[in-house]
Amino acid sequence: MSHTPASAPDTCLALENVTISYGSFEAVKNVYMDIPRGKVTAFIGPSGCGKSTVLRALNRMNDLIPGCHLKGRVVFDGHDIYAPNVDAVEVRRRIGMVFQKPNPFPKTIYENIAFGARINGYRGDMDELVERSLRKAAVWDECKDKLKASGLALSGGQQQRLCIARAIATEPEVILMDEPCSALDPISTLKIEETMHELKHSFTIVIVTHNMQQAVRVADLTAFYNAEAVSGGSGKVGYLVEFSETEKIFNNPAQQSTQDYVTGRFG
Ligand code: ADP
Ligand code: MG
Repeated sequence: MSHTPASAPDTCLALENVTISYGSFEAVKNVYMDIPRGKVTAFIGPSGCGKSTVLRALNRMNDLIPGCHLKGRVVFDGHDIYAPNVDAVEVRRRIGMVFQKPNPFPKTIYENIAFGARINGYRGDMDELVERSLRKAAVWDECKDKLKASGLALSGGQQQRLCIARAIATEPEVILMDEPCSALDPISTLKIEETMHELKHSFTIVIVTHNMQQAVRVADLTAFYNAEAVSGGSGKVGYLVEFSETEKIFNNPAQQSTQDYVTGRFG
């Protein structure tokens, strides 16, 4: 990766004028953001404004969608992750992802952790890695007596924490989460939120949530995205309205549209 000066010393991921298209449709335009290290950053905004699209750009997951194209730069630890010679697989190891629907492998709980670690060439004590990862994801106590059972036999909330453990096991620096609680009940949701508070001591976390109270509970910073119809275009174009401390976004935002959204007066 070629070196480029970082925006701020504590910036983990910087988006520099990022525009993402699907074919000729520009889904989200001209995004600038400095996502700080060691914090939880939330993306909020109405459906279709490009939150998932931007999140997937942060670890090159959009590369897997035919026709999806990115302009601008995404700079991780001072390096443009879209530069030639950068290995997208290595980017995804260092910047892990947890999806909306828990998706454990149809394997044992143990293998859900060990499989990816082995592929990544992990040479240490596998039992120790499995335990450490499950502990960090706050699901060890529920799993320790049934490591040989299928990951699919767990409850939805436990499966999602298993997926978090799996993401942690490859020792990423960043964990991206796209509405990780939307398929879960309120108690499982709170458990995941508690887990996030623990995880931020070790990782930078970026979470998309449609639940504004969740952003208030877990996020240090919040980005509000919106979308607008453009004349002559088909579909709405997403853009970043403002990005600030969560407390400011919810209590004293700079933009009227943010105020309208967070107070539920959205047209
Ligand atoms: P959000 O996560 O905020 O709901 P998305 O990032 O999923 O928004 O979508 C942003 C826009 O991009 C929407 O108009 C959506 O229809 C479009 N879009 C998302 N994924 C694809 C895709 N794979 N192919 C074409 N258009 C897509
Ligand atoms: Mg989405």
